Amino acid sequence: MLPTPCRRVPRTTPTGMDDMARKRTVVVIEDEDAIRRGIVDALGMAGCEPIEAADGETGLAQARRAGVDLVLLDLLLPKMDGFDVLAELRLTHPALPVIILTARGSEDDRVRGLRGGADDYVVKPFSARELLARVEAVMRRTPERPTPVLQISHGDTTVHCGRREIHRKDGQRVALSEMEANILERLAAHAGRAVSREELLASVWGLRDGGVETRAIDMHITRLRQKLAGEAAEGRTEWITTVRGKGYMLGPELSVQSNEGAGEETS
Ligand code: CA
Repeated sequence: MLPTPCRRVPRTTPTGMDDMARKRTVVVIEDEDAIRRGIVDALGMAGCEPIEAADGETGLAQARRAGVDLVLLDLLLPKMDGFDVLAELRLTHPALPVIILTARGSEDDRVRGLRGGADDYVVKPFSARELLARVEAVMRRTPERPTPVLQISHGDTTVHCGRREIHRKDGQRVALSEMEANILERLAAHAGRAVSREELLASVWGLRDGGVETRAIDMHITRLRQKLAGEAAEGRTEWITTVRGKGYMLGPELSVQSNEGAGEETS
């Protein structure tokens, strides 16, 4: 019997949510056709939804698609090697499970991969059984968990990044776009230092060199500031500070709380 990592067992999910039979989506980034096909077949038989990519660039783009549950990543790849794919992916998807596929004996690669944020590795050549067992184990260790509830507050205003809402004490709620919430989350994750436009682009949009697009960031920041300040603009709180020549930073007086999975509504 092959392990069946992709069959979700109803009611035993850690979230307790009934997620019916949505198939797990696994992106397979491997340039060797025979190996890739073998993996895809094994995943398919185990009930997963495999997505194939034969080079690093395509693989990265596929891995960033919504709804991906796990990535199998070869290291020696055309266009972009596996380490770079991993590094780029971690900028935008810090928690997405990744298993690297390494050659026998290459301990350095395994260590480098794990340090770079891979969750596990499988040494080639591997059997379908072994691969699926690893996939199952990694999926079990990393239950589906939405991003932690991140709140940023100052005075009467609290931003709930996960819900993409600004709450004011008087009950007023203002919705944030996905981009605006992502930008705020990124700034909050690096509170105390400036985050460059390029870094924001890479993490929020997943673009690698966005010389042309950096002005788009400025536009979103402007809109964000307007929403955050509101009409009252009491106390002239600087929610987002511009750091000349460096980028943007979260205002120093703001308080950031990251309470994983805990309840929200405090006021
Ligand atoms: Ca390869």
